[in-house]
Amino acid sequence: MIVMKFGGTSVANFEAITRAIFIVGGRLDKKPVVVVSALSKVTDLLYRISDAAAARNVSETKTLMNELRSRHVNLASDLLEQSPALKESAVGRVNAICDSLEELVNAVCAVGELSDRNKAIIISNGELLSSTIICFTMNAKGIRTNFIDARQMMITSNEYLKGEPVIDEIVARVPGVIEEAYKGMDAVITQGFIGSNLAGEQTVLGRGGSDYSASLIGMAIDAERIEIWTDVDGVRSADPRTVENTKYIEKISFEEAAEMAHFGAKVLHPLTIEPAVKKNIPIYVLNSMNPSGKGTAILRSELIEDGVKSVSFKENIRVINIFSMKMINTSGFLRRVFEIFSESKVSVDLISTSEANISVTVDAAEKIDKVVEQLSEFADVIVDDDKSQVSVIGKNIVRLNGMLKKTFAPLKRTNVYMISQGASFVNISFVVDREELKDVVKDLHYHLFEVEEELEQF
Ligand code: ADP
Ligand code: ASP
Ligand code: MG
Repeated sequence: MIVMKFGGTSVANFEAITRAIFIVGGRLDKKPVVVVSALSKVTDLLYRISDAAAARNVSETKTLMNELRSRHVNLASDLLEQSPALKESAVGRVNAICDSLEELVNAVCAVGELSDRNKAIIISNGELLSSTIICFTMNAKGIRTNFIDARQMMITSNEYLKGEPVIDEIVARVPGVIEEAYKGMDAVITQGFIGSNLAGEQTVLGRGGSDYSASLIGMAIDAERIEIWTDVDGVRSADPRTVENTKYIEKISFEEAAEMAHFGAKVLHPLTIEPAVKKNIPIYVLNSMNPSGKGTAILRSELIEDGVKSVSFKENIRVINIFSMKMINTSGFLRRVFEIFSESKVSVDLISTSEANISVTVDAAEKIDKVVEQLSEFADVIVDDDKSQVSVIGKNIVRLNGMLKKTFAPLKRTNVYMISQGASFVNISFVVDREELKDVVKDLHYHLFEVEEELEQF
């Protein structure tokens, strides 16, 4: 079996879905488990619907709900034009999903209060709608496809908006559910991103979580491979939306891919690699607009050469500087500091320490008020906003001769605030002012990937 995950742009509209189904059709001998995201931008739309409802903005809520409904009804009608019976059922299903969502949204609007639990229900509808429409269309095209509700098997903790997978439950449930659904079928389809807690309440895995769903399913069924179908020709040497001349990467290691994703490369959800590594399942990142391309293979480290592979960045981070004279030689100090972060569930990216100071970086979206308050009880704390974090990633780069010089040479005129070398030898990261980020990334990419190529041409 293989897992094939299609992201939002790969199922955005009539053409994209037609292409995706054609790609699945070419792999039926591998018994694909298809995992889909919501149509492009639909999860954003659902967030806007929840905000409008929470703000009791009735007319805005209505307008957005109509947009959601008409986009899906029209799409289902167009895709199923040639199969009137299936079209009627699909449009009926789409309307039923939208009706029940509208009922909840109206109730939220009436009270003006939105719990995380209800928000999770609202934002999970994108995947339910897309998978419903694609399932009907696959059947209309002659691929006998069964629909699996991911909430039966993707079990998470009770954090409604960022559920942590309960691995034992997932491993216990997924193979049976898929096997049962596969009986007499050519393929099965399910939703990325969504799940439920043990009490059966709706949860989601957090933004971009469909990659993670695909990988968890792949692990649970011991898939032969996990394919992540997206809108770029595989993993590249930087985000092509920021850097012009990015390079194609044929293969990278699980560790490199995990670091890239963790340090900001949006191409994969940061936790995607973890389940695949457990079973040594290769992940392929492929372009649904260019299906004959080779994509990028993510493989175990032994199969990958040393050397720099990519530049990742996180645009909006904060540096928290913690000063205390008491730190010197007190063994409990660091423990206390990190306990405070951990109790507030604030995740720390980079750390650097000197004798009387610890600096850490956190995502700007993290809520740090309580952390700062608690740290201030025994240390001086200064928070620097509007910073960005840049990471150079590649197997064993920390050990490579001249790598630091190569990384920092292009930054002569830039203020660099923190430098941190990953203990895994895969990553060199540093912090710069946010307004300088784009220039720094382009310069660095040029020096690491483009300059030598230019020289070779002479
Ligand atoms: P999907 O909807 O398929 O999940 P995403 O938008 O989440 O797609 O991820 C794909 C995007 O990731 C690409 O369009 C690209 O802009 C971005 N990206 C960031 N870093 C990289 C990288 N190093 N290589 C390739 N793509 C990257
Ligand atoms: N639809 C969800 C999101 O936009 C999950 C995903 O696309 O991976 O965040
Ligand atoms: Mg994504």
